[in-house]
Amino acid sequence: MYKDHNCGELNAKNIGQKVVLAGWVHRQRDHGGVTFIDLRDRSGIIQVVANPSHPEVAEILHDARMEWVLQITGEVRHRPAGAENPNLPTGEIEVDATACEVLNQAKPLPFLINKDEDTDENVRLKYRYLDLRRERMQRNLMLRHKVIKFMRDYLDAHGFIEVETPMLFKTTPEGARDYLVPSRVHPGCFYALPQSPQQLKQLLQVAGVERYFQIARCFRDEDLRGDRQPEFTQLDIEMSFVERDDVLAIVEELFTAMLPVVTPQKHLLASPWPRLTYTDAVNRFGSDKPDLRFGMELIDVSDLFAKSSFMVFQNTLKANGVIKCIIVPGCAEYTRKEVDELTSFAKDQGAKGLATLALTSEGVKGTAQKFITPEEVSALEARSGAKEGDLILFVADTRVIANKTLGQLRLLFRDRLNLVDKDVMAFAWVLDFPMFEWNEEDQKWDAAHHPFTQPKMEDLPKFDTDPAAILSDAYDMVCNGYEMASGSIRIHRRDIQLKIFQLLGLKDEDIQAKFGHILEAFEYGAPPHGGIAPGIDRLVMLLADEPNIREVIAFPKNQAARDLMANAPSEATEKQLKELHIRVEMPEE
Ligand code: ASP
Repeated sequence: MYKDHNCGELNAKNIGQKVVLAGWVHRQRDHGGVTFIDLRDRSGIIQVVANPSHPEVAEILHDARMEWVLQITGEVRHRPAGAENPNLPTGEIEVDATACEVLNQAKPLPFLINKDEDTDENVRLKYRYLDLRRERMQRNLMLRHKVIKFMRDYLDAHGFIEVETPMLFKTTPEGARDYLVPSRVHPGCFYALPQSPQQLKQLLQVAGVERYFQIARCFRDEDLRGDRQPEFTQLDIEMSFVERDDVLAIVEELFTAMLPVVTPQKHLLASPWPRLTYTDAVNRFGSDKPDLRFGMELIDVSDLFAKSSFMVFQNTLKANGVIKCIIVPGCAEYTRKEVDELTSFAKDQGAKGLATLALTSEGVKGTAQKFITPEEVSALEARSGAKEGDLILFVADTRVIANKTLGQLRLLFRDRLNLVDKDVMAFAWVLDFPMFEWNEEDQKWDAAHHPFTQPKMEDLPKFDTDPAAILSDAYDMVCNGYEMASGSIRIHRRDIQLKIFQLLGLKDEDIQAKFGHILEAFEYGAPPHGGIAPGIDRLVMLLADEPNIREVIAFPKNQAARDLMANAPSEATEKQLKELHIRVEMPEE
């Protein structure tokens, strides 16, 4: 070994000991002609200074540059009185170096590693191996490791086994586009990279595995807006002979047990976790991934304005729309300009407009003031608890648009008014999702979760009459406004699975070609089963207080799906393309 101790693990107990260290030059200072070096390895930092009887060591320390790799031999000693650094775990001690070898040099750096300064993300990604040396990124890598290790240990202790599933497989629809891999040996044929191991984990249940998990990589060629990655990692879980609550229990217990181990500073909002139906979540919070760390719920006030003379309200109710509002605390004094900004935000969400009432100390003001009677204001106050100083924001529109718009305004004020504690983890379950969503563009039904999800058995008769009203046995785990996991009880009967594929508009020959294997498997004693897949990137992002998942992935793609370090994707050679029987047609400019 090049070293017998780690820099950051040395302490006063090592005083007097001879040590050999190896690491990077983290920082270098000259004090009165003496060079001090902070030597860094993964464990931390230690101060090194040359022994006065070794001028050759002093010279190397003096000439070394940031991120040079050094091997240091020396003795641990107490720092001189007054020179201790209470901010550093090893701040009491230093190494009195009697030998130093330069193991490698480093070019001038594209950015500082010893400081968490704002650096252009593209530069960070190009030099990711340097970026990852920074303390914050090392911390994130370590946290991710701990999270995954906890999951593995926990599931192992609860009778789960980890099974790897292939990357080269067939399409598994999760609602995104597939990444395809051309086959050299089968001209014109392609593997699809799994959007998730969904079919395979179900087939493992048919195979009698009963309790499966995998730290699984998923590939989805989708729009990268909204902090997504072309490949991401899930804790994929599937269990046999379970009902919904069995699956929820194992995940809730795992996450509840994990939190104090990996991030003791974080705590749960509530235990057991709150449960909401999809309809409730959307009506109360304007989102199927509600942030439950704060209130400001959406209030339906349609009935209070049944006789309103306000044309906007009247017309909305006539068209079967709703009038909903949120109460924004302490913002009654918003200026015209501030209200205009909120209005254009509301319009960006699809709303026709935004009406406001401001409960100021000089009485009721706001854009809706002249249309709303004092009786209506009193009824509003009684319903919503609004009080002097508050600003009431109304959206009168279809239920979908009113919920979405107010849901987004609610999040805007969460951030603007600092309404949440970042150390609270508001895990919750959202249940009873609709089975299908109408796809306007293609004029067909889509699976709201995925097509292997079991519809609620009591809703089966609605198949031919009212697919929109069919609920499914799907569930989402949400936290702090993010969807953290989706899962469902699965179909394990061939006839029902076939019916779903047909309702989704798949032709018989497509069903056979794409899903014949799973339909056939269901004919060989498939057990009832269900599962879930918490996303690991998003979870670690929240635990690490990072703003996006790229910060917790070692080598992420940028938002244009490029790896800037290796410059991938890149063109294939003529020879490769020929072997793959592929001709590239470039799009016209
Ligand atoms: N395969 C699903 C997904 O990736 C999760 C599940 O249903 O277990 O979203």
